[in-house]
Amino acid sequence: MAQHIGSDFTSFIGNLGRRLETLFRGQPANGSPGTVEEALGEGALSVFIPERFGGRGQHVDECLSVLETCSYESLPLSLVAGINGALFLQPVSKYADEEVQARTFDRFVNHGALGGLMITEPDFGTDALQMRTSFRPEGDGYRLRGTKHWGGLTGRADHWLLTAREETEGGSLGRNINFFVWDRDLGGIEVAEYYDSLGLEMIPYGRNRIDTYLPAERRMTPLGSGVRMLLDVLHRSRLQFPGMGMGFLRRLLDEGIRHARGRFVGGHPLADYDQVQSRLAEIQAAYTTCSAMCAYTTSVAGVENDCSPQALPANTIKSVVTDIMQSAAQSLLQLVGAAGYRRDHLAGSAVVDSRPFQIFEGSNDILYQQISEAVLKSMKRLKESNLSRFLGVFEPTKRVAGRMPKDLDFSVEAGLPQRKMVDLGRILGRIMSMQMVLDMKDRGYREDLAENCIIMTIREIRSLVGSFAHADRTAAVEDYRDGSAWSAFLPDNHAEA
Ligand SMILES: Cc1cc2nc3c(=O)[nH]c(=O)nc-3n(C[C@H](O)[C@H](O)[C@H](O)COP(=O)(O)OP(=O)(O)OC[C@H]3O[C@@H](n4cnc5c(N)ncnc54)[C@H](O)[C@@H]3O)c2cc1C
Repeated sequence: MAQHIGSDFTSFIGNLGRRLETLFRGQPANGSPGTVEEALGEGALSVFIPERFGGRGQHVDECLSVLETCSYESLPLSLVAGINGALFLQPVSKYADEEVQARTFDRFVNHGALGGLMITEPDFGTDALQMRTSFRPEGDGYRLRGTKHWGGLTGRADHWLLTAREETEGGSLGRNINFFVWDRDLGGIEVAEYYDSLGLEMIPYGRNRIDTYLPAERRMTPLGSGVRMLLDVLHRSRLQFPGMGMGFLRRLLDEGIRHARGRFVGGHPLADYDQVQSRLAEIQAAYTTCSAMCAYTTSVAGVENDCSPQALPANTIKSVVTDIMQSAAQSLLQLVGAAGYRRDHLAGSAVVDSRPFQIFEGSNDILYQQISEAVLKSMKRLKESNLSRFLGVFEPTKRVAGRMPKDLDFSVEAGLPQRKMVDLGRILGRIMSMQMVLDMKDRGYREDLAENCIIMTIREIRSLVGSFAHADRTAAVEDYRDGSAWSAFLPDNHAEA
């Protein structure tokens, strides 16, 4: 067990890569039963565990490299590692009682344990702060009751972080969110239903009924409020999404290039066609953007940092990287044609497995709106309503705003319709990502890849600006059936039966 812990990182990650290659080649990305244990069993998760408990010491670059190595072979496996690392082990190392940490980390380092986080409830997903799962003091600890669903590794994880609100004397629920460290020995979590998920079959999901007793030391201690702790955890996790994106995008790029060279259509390799090159360039731009995000994250996401104020970079990175993962997967599927629609082909599963990344840990539509809200607030503070002028002085964008001054030369004010806030958030997210690419280029990254990526990103921003500028408040007509059956509106010269 854990034979690689303590060896130098290059051989650690090399061994992991080789083991995963053997496990997954010729296998669907979701593996077969037992794959998770075999893949992560030899200490892969130790990068998320402090050194004093037998881990590798929580260096962000090592955490991202493990996620990347996993996602080159299997995006679902990388999500398993991401859930365990960012949503369980890192929070426990920061906020849990020392004894609880010692006991928990021992299970991970020496016994291959798995963990997860339960926030979402059937009636409260996006508005998680309204959750109904509650706890109250009982004896020397707490009684916690509620229903949670969609916790990754439902029924499979031996350890859970449970989130709940405190019952007050009057029976109402406090505003703060509290975290508890649960393990199987405590009992009281019953899987009421397993979901038949569309993708990510490696990870069981379902609905859990919870009625459990937790000793007092299982309650985590926030450094400020419970909501601040929740934001610290969620933002750190969002900042580390590019680790999961990195190997996935590199693999899509490798497969895309290999396929375009080897497949002949009309006497030419696909790679000779201009539209094919456009799609490959898009996948490559996604690879470069994701690389820049990984580099950026290493300087902000350490457990020693408070990530709760990092909403802007965290929301930007999570929403943009998951959007480009999904578009890159769609492009690869288009390029491989019908072969990609087989369940055992990487391209189709890449589309299905990457899709929920745009939904979980903050639905992208909402995150884009929040990005715009944050930027509009800063603009108001500076009394500047011209976007181009503002972005030219705003720290996360000032180095790239000059690359497209005319495109951004319009004014934006508070009070925009929500759909425009979302469009604007998409634009801002891509401009901030572009600056991360430029920063990485200045540190010596390949100029051809960085410049291609910047050109592709500007192309995307221009099309988003077009959508933003198009004024419309079209809403769906709900009772649309009357008078909308096409067969009643045929042209006069239609052929009569
Ligand atoms: C594969 C997968 C893994 C997951 N893993 C976990 C996990 O490990 N732990 C966990 O606790 N949860 C997990 N979840 C749950 C996930 O976080 C929730 O699905 C998510 O928060 C959205 O909640 P919901 O499904 O209830 O959707 P809703 O809250 O009903 O929202 C549905 C959609 O409505 C729209 N919407 C919502 N609010 C607004 C608004 N104010 N304005 C405009 N549009 C809006 C958005 O498009 C949103 O996507 C997972 C989900 C999936 C699919």
